[in-house]
Amino acid sequence: MYNYALAERKDWMNSRKCPVTACSIRQEYIIPADVPYPDYYKQQNALTEAKKRIPELKAVHSQVLQDALKRLDKSFKFYTERGFGFPRFKKFGQYRSFVFPQFKSNPVNGFEIKLPKVGAMPINLHRPIPDGFEVKQVRIVFKPSGWYAQLILQADISVPDVMPHGEPIGIDLGLEKFLAVSTGELVERPRFFVNLQSKLRWLQRQLRNKKKGSANYRKIQAKIRQLHEHIYNVRREFHFLTAHKLCDNAGMIFAEDLNLKATRRGMLAKHCLDAAWGSFLEILKWVCWKRGVYFAQVDPNRTSQTCPQCGAQTGKKELSERVHHCHECGYTTDRDVAAAQVVVQRGLAFVADGQSVRLPAEEGCLGTPFAKRSR
Ligand SMILES: [Zn+2]
Repeated sequence: MYNYALAERKDWMNSRKCPVTACSIRQEYIIPADVPYPDYYKQQNALTEAKKRIPELKAVHSQVLQDALKRLDKSFKFYTERGFGFPRFKKFGQYRSFVFPQFKSNPVNGFEIKLPKVGAMPINLHRPIPDGFEVKQVRIVFKPSGWYAQLILQADISVPDVMPHGEPIGIDLGLEKFLAVSTGELVERPRFFVNLQSKLRWLQRQLRNKKKGSANYRKIQAKIRQLHEHIYNVRREFHFLTAHKLCDNAGMIFAEDLNLKATRRGMLAKHCLDAAWGSFLEILKWVCWKRGVYFAQVDPNRTSQTCPQCGAQTGKKELSERVHHCHECGYTTDRDVAAAQVVVQRGLAFVADGQSVRLPAEEGCLGTPFAKRSR
């Protein structure tokens, strides 16, 4: 479905590539000039017709099919609006999840989930659905370790925005240490990926010696996937634990608004990706919201070049320079802790004058709320 719809759009685009007054020399797609672009609605309307012609499509729930089209539409939107790559055809194994977007009644009971067209499937219920919540959507995901059903629940309650209060802390994310807290605490960086890399290399070497597509090839491939999933799980757990620990003794948390794209390149790219600050900040934001801790991100410019005690510019530090020493006031502390202290000062300045212009909770820490304001 996805690939067919993508091909339909690509053909249309190719047919419009050469000017009306000229023919391309090599090839020509001929789609009549008055045929409109097959956008989401056109493709969705064509579904009914397609189902008549291809009876196999009836085996899939209609909303699941629509969702495949929606997904394609989304990837085109990302391509045109957000600078993502052109949507690609999905190979076998690349389309790993599908969504049931609507339910009339609760599909889950204690031991099985009832899905339209699929039937009742036995499940391992991770935790009971809380009272007052309704199941809105079910996404079925295939992971190397098995099939998962992710439930999206809804309840009609409003949660007030967290207001700034209590003990403020600032955090500085880094490579030497995973993070430094303005109180002087340092958290070591666990090297999930880097540690397991030798194992991964070994598996990949095994894979090279196997015949492509053979049973043994697939076995090794499955092992590699499982290893990747394991690394992901371990990292995620660490992020959650760290976020909860930070929330334990703070009322406000401030972090830098990182430019993640820049850090992904260059020599340290592997280590930057392994630390996964972006997903940590997402998790931290969520944990803060859950625990009622105020969270905001501040302008990251020159946090490591400013003295937290007197505000003097101390100039650029080399990566190897681990200590902050101020020539103006003589303040000496760990380099990352100093940066975290600058972050907390900027955060407090923001909170002090930003009360009236507070951003909506959803966007509060994704954009750059006050770039170039706090300096
Ligand atoms: Zn100073």
